Amino acid sequence: MRVHVLADDVINKISAGEVVERPASVVRELVDNSLDAGATDITVLLEDGGQRLIRVTDDGSGMDRDDALLALERHATSKLTVSDDLHSISTLGFRGEALPSIAAVSKMVLRTRCAGSAAAQEIIIEGGKIHRVQETAAPVGTTIEVRQLFFNTPARRKFLKSPRSEELKIKAWILHASIARPQVRFRLFSDNRELLNIPRHSSELERASAVFRGTTIPFEGTSDAVSVLGVVGHPSLAQMESGAFVILVNGRLVSDRMILRAVKEGFDSTLKDREFPIGFISVRLSAGDVDVNVHPQKSEVRFRHSQEIFEAVKKHVASAVQEFCFPMRAMPAMPHQTSTAHAARFEFASTFSAPSQRPERHLESYDHPEPIRQLASEPPLEKFKFSELRYLGQLMECYLLTELNEQFYVVDMHAAHERYNFNLMRRAFHERSVPSQQLLVPLTVELSEEGLERCMRQSHTFETLGFHWDSLGPTTLAVRALPSYFPESRLIQVVKEVAAIAEDLSTQSAFDEQIDKIAARLACHASIRSGKRMEAAEVYALFAALDSTEFSAACPHGRPVIISFTKSDIESWFGRDN
Ligand code: ADP
Ligand code: MG
Repeated sequence: MRVHVLADDVINKISAGEVVERPASVVRELVDNSLDAGATDITVLLEDGGQRLIRVTDDGSGMDRDDALLALERHATSKLTVSDDLHSISTLGFRGEALPSIAAVSKMVLRTRCAGSAAAQEIIIEGGKIHRVQETAAPVGTTIEVRQLFFNTPARRKFLKSPRSEELKIKAWILHASIARPQVRFRLFSDNRELLNIPRHSSELERASAVFRGTTIPFEGTSDAVSVLGVVGHPSLAQMESGAFVILVNGRLVSDRMILRAVKEGFDSTLKDREFPIGFISVRLSAGDVDVNVHPQKSEVRFRHSQEIFEAVKKHVASAVQEFCFPMRAMPAMPHQTSTAHAARFEFASTFSAPSQRPERHLESYDHPEPIRQLASEPPLEKFKFSELRYLGQLMECYLLTELNEQFYVVDMHAAHERYNFNLMRRAFHERSVPSQQLLVPLTVELSEEGLERCMRQSHTFETLGFHWDSLGPTTLAVRALPSYFPESRLIQVVKEVAAIAEDLSTQSAFDEQIDKIAARLACHASIRSGKRMEAAEVYALFAALDSTEFSAACPHGRPVIISFTKSDIESWFGRDN
């Protein structure tokens, strides 16, 4: 379609607002345009985090002279004609606002050539005014250079973030958006450094496996009119920011709280309250069922049947997360990996890795914004059984060393027991059927007045969990019964934690919300600590118990319960592998 100015009735239906806020939004608009133009190779170049220069080059369709000039007008687009089209948008852009908005606040050069033209057109614009239009030589495609963003609006320039943070934001955005377009090669340069070089991939899943390191499980499925596809990262890779989970809706990168919540619910108890998983989900539905015209930067969408989407996402994510029941394989560290708090937990893997070990080829050229531990999951063939492991002995009074089928497995006994107890408690809580045991002598705990008040306020809730207590004075609590699984020695600690819970748990929804947290805390207290010598019979009893429960390969905090090393991993420690 040729570029044309939209009719007023369409313009009035378009969600208005600021398109260009910062360099990252310029990159986003320009790259979206390149993708809409059918590009298969896109290069973004930044200077000074994009404040001095942003240049986006593509090998897309290009434009002829008339279209290029018209494209700089407000509300000129080739992607939409009548307002009805707003209900079936399949392109990333549709408002015809980006180019004029960017041109108005920068010094811009647009160089473009379409397939039929012998020469390219070069348009030089400053602060929205066209200075020159001339012919030049260039390959088919478009290059847009944006210099000195906000040079004529100093007030906006003041609010720009540091070049480094802008660069990171742009890098993360390209990396995430690239998942939706696996056939497109993306490169990012910043101040002459190559930050990204993403080769073409054959599918979204293949692209995602290059973007997300570490243990991931793919999923795919269709429910009603919604199809979903994606990967989820192991719960232990979770991060404190929501941005690590990539959400694509009909190929558009968006932030959507509803989908994110469905994903989190799919992860169930494997994530802590404020943790977000890594991974991506691509949701596809008919264009009529999603309104993309709700946000000035098109980063939010609205669904016609959001409940249906919620259920589909939750269901498919949950079934993928179930597969994390398999032991994770400890992998050699990448040489350029920095040791962060995250990576440090798996230092033993890197300490053992032979120096000659090569990182996987496709990861060499670009890395994820956040370092991620390297763990790979065993192929999920049949259910893994702890009870089949042969117990070899205990290490550091904490780790259980075992073997099976030429694999060496290390089990964190506390994490394992905690997972078992957690599942047990959670089930019992939900069924409200906790076996309780009377204490011969009530146990008294001294608390503050507020603490006692809180414990009494929660007493009814905790009764359903098997704890019975009452007050013996303004600051003394008497515990008369506790659940039979629960060791008396940890009781005081639990009461003190209950005394610190400010929320009122008496409503069903508050209880549901808090129950996992409470179960996780109780499970932690009720579980064997490191420092305990384990008899073989106790170990096998624990293994049998683990086989009877779900998610057994990760503790309630998402930490792995069991790690495996293959024979060749071990051989490589001794240089036997070459
Ligand atoms: P929109 O993307 O909403 O249509 P823009 O202002 O971003 O609005 O772009 C206006 C028009 O310019 C587009 O509709 C398209 O026809 C043309 N255009 C912009 N960038 C490119 C590009 N990289 N390659 C080819 N055509 C482009
Ligand atoms: Mg656009």
